[in-house]
Amino acid sequence: MNLFTPLNSESGKNLSGSPKPVEHVRVLILGSGPAGYTAAIYTARANLNPVVYEGIEPGGQLTTTTEVENFPGYPDGVTGTQMMEDLKKQAERFGTDVRFGIATAADLSSMPYRITIDDEKVVETDALIIATGATAKYLGLESENKFKGQGVSACATCDGFFYKGKDVAVVGGGDTAAEEATYLAGLCRKVYLIVRKSYLRASKAMQEKVASTPNIEILFEHTTKEIVGDQSGVNGVILTNTKTGKDVKVDISGFFLAIGHHPNSELFKPWLDTDEVGYIKTLPDSTKTNLPGVFACGDVRDPHYRQAITAAGSGCMAAIDAERYLGERKF
Ligand code: NDP
Repeated sequence: MNLFTPLNSESGKNLSGSPKPVEHVRVLILGSGPAGYTAAIYTARANLNPVVYEGIEPGGQLTTTTEVENFPGYPDGVTGTQMMEDLKKQAERFGTDVRFGIATAADLSSMPYRITIDDEKVVETDALIIATGATAKYLGLESENKFKGQGVSACATCDGFFYKGKDVAVVGGGDTAAEEATYLAGLCRKVYLIVRKSYLRASKAMQEKVASTPNIEILFEHTTKEIVGDQSGVNGVILTNTKTGKDVKVDISGFFLAIGHHPNSELFKPWLDTDEVGYIKTLPDSTKTNLPGVFACGDVRDPHYRQAITAAGSGCMAAIDAERYLGERKF
């Protein structure tokens, strides 16, 4: 199934050929990461009876990390999975209707907005909160999947601390890679920056920062062949020098991906303003999009911070924006 097939819902039929049932809700929230659940907690407490569809990855990106130590309020840390279960429970406690299901089509051409779920039913909503997140890009190696959460990470700010004093590698040549490498250099003994081209794509300022950090070594014109390790996690990476064709093994404990993110906004692009990468544009200091009653929060609108706490904060903003919108419109 193509999750991001633009609008097909107007056939009015579900997969079995019968008419799609239509349900009307006041607030529909798409996504179940920290942004989605925080929006749910706030709108539920405002008696707006929100409905959350969890999406393709219930709990969002945090469920792919191990320990979360930087979310305020957890002095001993918490696993990503536990935190998301707690957020879900908290949202349900105030009456949020959390459902398993994926948005497969959208029609934002007129109000009420219409979202098709699992190609089977249509949910009409007065206010729509999009919290569908972003997906970190991975290289697509089997070994990368095998060691996800055991040495392979796509977030240095989240997981860097576990590699204090150790040697790590970051793959990528853009601003994120440069930023993550610099951040890790403050914690780790040595950081290898693996760049497939002969130059960095990162901004001049970031390049200078990388160049002036003594414990970062840039390996230009190297690609990742395999991540190696054992039951206790990653212990090395095999790189191919694309100039010589030779392989080299580098001993590392952590392997960080910084090759870009993909905001999950395809479904909404026909109606919403996005930047060139696809991040949904919102008004300054607001979660309002270019459409009244449509709000975006969390990583689907955030190419910069991408933290659970910032996502949760913008989820709160989206809930308040939605509540005010509904109040003003007297829905
Ligand atoms: P980018 O798309 O800018 O860079 C991705 C990097 O990953 C490129 O160097 C690319 O290589 C490399 N890459 C992609 N696929 C692979 C692969 N399969 N194998 C090896 N390398 C790969 O993404 P970023 O996340 O760095 O940045 C996204 C946007 O966010 C940019 O506009 C950036 O400027 C911005 N940003 C700004 C920051 C700031 O202002 N502080 C901080 C972070 C991001 P190649 O160059 O060969 O294509």
